[in-house]
Amino acid sequence: MRALAQSVLAIVALVVGALILAAPAAHAGPDPQQSSTDVWSVDAPLVESVYPEGLVFRLRAESSAGTIERARLLWYRPVLRPGATRHVQVEDVTVDPATGDLVATWRPDALVMLPPWSLVSYHWELRDAAGNTFETEPQTFEYADHTREWTRSESEDAIVFASDLPGEIEALVLDALAEQRATYEAVWGGALPYAPRIVLFGDYEAWLEWRTADHTTSDSSIVVGQTFDAWGVIAQVMTGWPSEAAYRELAYSIVLHEIEHLYQAEFLAGRRRMDVPGWFYEGDATFFELDQSYDYLGRVRALASAGDLPPLLVSIADAPSVSGETPRLGYDIGYSFFEWLRVTSGGLDAHATIMALLGEDVPFFDALEQALGRTTTEIERDWRLWLGASADAPTLVPTWTPPPFLTPPTPMQFGN
Ligand SMILES: [Zn+2]
Repeated sequence: MRALAQSVLAIVALVVGALILAAPAAHAGPDPQQSSTDVWSVDAPLVESVYPEGLVFRLRAESSAGTIERARLLWYRPVLRPGATRHVQVEDVTVDPATGDLVATWRPDALVMLPPWSLVSYHWELRDAAGNTFETEPQTFEYADHTREWTRSESEDAIVFASDLPGEIEALVLDALAEQRATYEAVWGGALPYAPRIVLFGDYEAWLEWRTADHTTSDSSIVVGQTFDAWGVIAQVMTGWPSEAAYRELAYSIVLHEIEHLYQAEFLAGRRRMDVPGWFYEGDATFFELDQSYDYLGRVRALASAGDLPPLLVSIADAPSVSGETPRLGYDIGYSFFEWLRVTSGGLDAHATIMALLGEDVPFFDALEQALGRTTTEIERDWRLWLGASADAPTLVPTWTPPPFLTPPTPMQFGN
């Protein structure tokens, strides 16, 4: 037992079913790797949230065949779709000298942070000196914050947690989600297979408390929201003296936008190509906002009539950016693409077809052409003319276009 290593953190990706869930050790099997439970005496596992300091897992276990020589604790987001890849945190185990219990601890650090109220699953893996192994059944719990007061509201769309904010914020968020439910489901063919968690802070100190991996350095880029698609959590902070208008923007703009990023992560998770431009992801998310802080389409139409509309589908390098000096350009132009699609195709079917093709890992341009029955040149021309631009995309000085596999992944983490 003393040979057990100090707690260290490793991150591995496992395919669900193949490695963990397919072989619960509670079954005796002919495989010599898979031992009988006869030798094992294992109590129910315990876990404690010591937010913001992390998680402490405990297990009392013995084998009649020999001392426990290896033990590890694995924790991860509960997985709801078969075949989905999950990211697993592995914690090594120590022995509590007072009780003899196995203890595993996760402490947030510069690599891994977790917002409060994230839903976590875990199990233990044990091996004794005779080679018998044992795996506990997965348990699920919340990374609860017991240090301050939270309110919690739930609908069929989401669970909202709020601290230091007026109670009506939760109803506002759930109302906005209910209003867009049919649109999400039309575009993706169904709802998210889990209840997303929306965690809202009214106090900036409370927000910073858990953000151990927030490497923001400049005041101009302070993160006020982050979406954890790997955990299905949207976290936002509202600082100062938020107004009714700010609450409404949070519910009817930001949350609806971020929820669409969760849909993208969920339903495009099988995608192996990195050829989808940022304007497409952000334009799609923006399409779900019910409130606009300015007239997005009006801005793009003004660019079009001034002859300043950049090319959209000519090359990834020339496409409007969603970062750098003018990040909103990519959002607004991307939004205009989805709005054009909705208006000119008479609904959401074309939008849904593109997403379904992307979910099958069809190359981005091929997905557009198959869904719309036109070449990308024709698509670009139709979209431009609808906006009031000239038919042909401007010819830019040729620039180096990175091969698709070098294209950076779309930032999907930051809120507005
Ligand atoms: Zn976004």
